[in-house]
Amino acid sequence: MDFRLTDEQRLLRQTVREFAEAEIRPHVRAWDEAQQFPRELLPKLAALGLMGIQFPEEWGGVGLSAIDYCICLEELARVDPSVALSVAAHNGLGPAHIHMFGTDAQKARWLRPLARGETLGAWALTEPGAGSDAAGMRTVARRDGDSWVIDGTKTFITHGASADVIVVMASTDRSRGAKGISAFIVERGTPGLRAGRKEDKLGMRASETTEVILEGCRVPADHLLGEEGAGFIAALQVLDAGRIGIAALAVGLAQGAFEAARDHAATRRQFGQPIASFQAIQWKLADMAVRIEAARLLTYRAAGLKDRGDRTTLESAMAKLYASEIAMRVAEDGVQIHGGYGFVKDYPAEKYFRDVKLTTIGEGTSEIQRLVIARQLLA
Ligand SMILES: Cc1cc2nc3c(=O)[nH]c(=O)nc-3n(C[C@H](O)[C@H](O)[C@H](O)COP(=O)(O)OP(=O)(O)OC[C@H]3O[C@@H](n4cnc5c(N)ncnc54)[C@H](O)[C@@H]3O)c2cc1C
Repeated sequence: MDFRLTDEQRLLRQTVREFAEAEIRPHVRAWDEAQQFPRELLPKLAALGLMGIQFPEEWGGVGLSAIDYCICLEELARVDPSVALSVAAHNGLGPAHIHMFGTDAQKARWLRPLARGETLGAWALTEPGAGSDAAGMRTVARRDGDSWVIDGTKTFITHGASADVIVVMASTDRSRGAKGISAFIVERGTPGLRAGRKEDKLGMRASETTEVILEGCRVPADHLLGEEGAGFIAALQVLDAGRIGIAALAVGLAQGAFEAARDHAATRRQFGQPIASFQAIQWKLADMAVRIEAARLLTYRAAGLKDRGDRTTLESAMAKLYASEIAMRVAEDGVQIHGGYGFVKDYPAEKYFRDVKLTTIGEGTSEIQRLVIARQLLA
């Protein structure tokens, strides 16, 4: 077991860090306030390969490892967690589903431009009545000659309005429950597809979240992704990998919150000395650093196993659960170390504190991660 990053990985971290500092940091507050996904950032992310991090070069990606993927998301989240969320949703959900289960023809047509960042992807599983219990979905797809007609409403979809390509899960045989769910590739502009309400969110505000409404939305038969009836099992496998990304995002967010608190503690003076000289603050900083490092190791372990081709259902859920929950504590400690300055928007602590909550909810809540972990342990 070697815990050191390679020279290439250190260079990757430095490159993404410099990019995030130069291209993202100056806009963080404006994008948060505008609550607008900064589409203009897409070509810049794409130029660095960040829209196709793990996809092979033949499909337009840069073919990096799962650990490399974690490094990239950490560095983006350290500066702006909502940009990291958009990058994670693009890399880890819709396009990943096409990569894992698509035919070569589907990959050539949709994955290649997605991985190059020429188009933006989304993944639509969640519904108003089916969140944690995603298999309880009501969206249906019925076969009609050479096409499928999809009807239903998806909710909380990242890039629901801006995406060019959406992977939509729908029931093709309600009598078979989870085994009757299939996945479809739906392109923006398809008649019957439209974005619904855009959510007004607590955090992650620069990452777009909307409803996706499908009304008599007709797609050709070759837009079926994977086997008919195998869409839900596929979605669970997509989430196994996706959760490593959310864990890495939580680690990066916590790192950003820690650094902001450490720097504030070093410069803020009370009682004639920097508050960092008080043991209460030092212990907080020490605990924050230990928790972040433990979460990082759990996350890299899940990623390392994925790189070896192992199944990571257990390890991904553990990493996601732990990293998101320690990130919550770190972000809260960050606000506390800032005192009143942690409560106002002029300092970054307030935004980390708002953004972090998503990490215990998206791609499966903490309760669902515990359920997944317990099921694996008891199997
Ligand atoms: C910003 C954002 C972006 C998102 N992006 C996407 C996306 O791109 N695509 C997509 O498909 N979805 C997306 N989601 C949806 C997300 O995955 C769901 O919100 C999440 O899975 C929880 O579902 P829910 O909101 O319906 O909560 P519910 O399922 O209603 O859960 C409510 C509470 O009940 C608990 N609970 C539910 N069932 C159990 C149980 N069996 N045991 C114990 N506790 C339980 C939950 O843990 C939670 O605390 C996004 C959500 C957000 C907020």
